[in-house]
Amino acid sequence: MPSDTEDRERDVPDGFQLEWVDESTLRGSLPWELVAPADSKPCRWSHGGVRCAEPSVARLDRGEKGPQWWHYCASHLFGRRINEGRIECQILVPVPEGTPDA
Ligand SMILES: [Zn+2]
Repeated sequence: MPSDTEDRERDVPDGFQLEWVDESTLRGSLPWELVAPADSKPCRWSHGGVRCAEPSVARLDRGEKGPQWWHYCASHLFGRRINEGRIECQILVPVPEGTPDA
């Protein structure tokens, strides 16, 4: 099952770069939680009708009338990653002045 993040670097506009941040610090962040290995469930990601089913590392509350947790594996966190016990996502930030083009 391919990861959902592979082509992300390609979409960065000129003058910007991607930076990893702790998602819980962002306004409007989604209700993600880390999942301990003992609480792991099969990943909900599906592609072409095929479920991933790898053991989950995090879960997202998709419930509208109370919690309804959907579990996802490390490859399918919708562009997020787990780093030092935090769920991180990438945001676009302007490249600082004087930085040579990469
Ligand atoms: Zn998965």
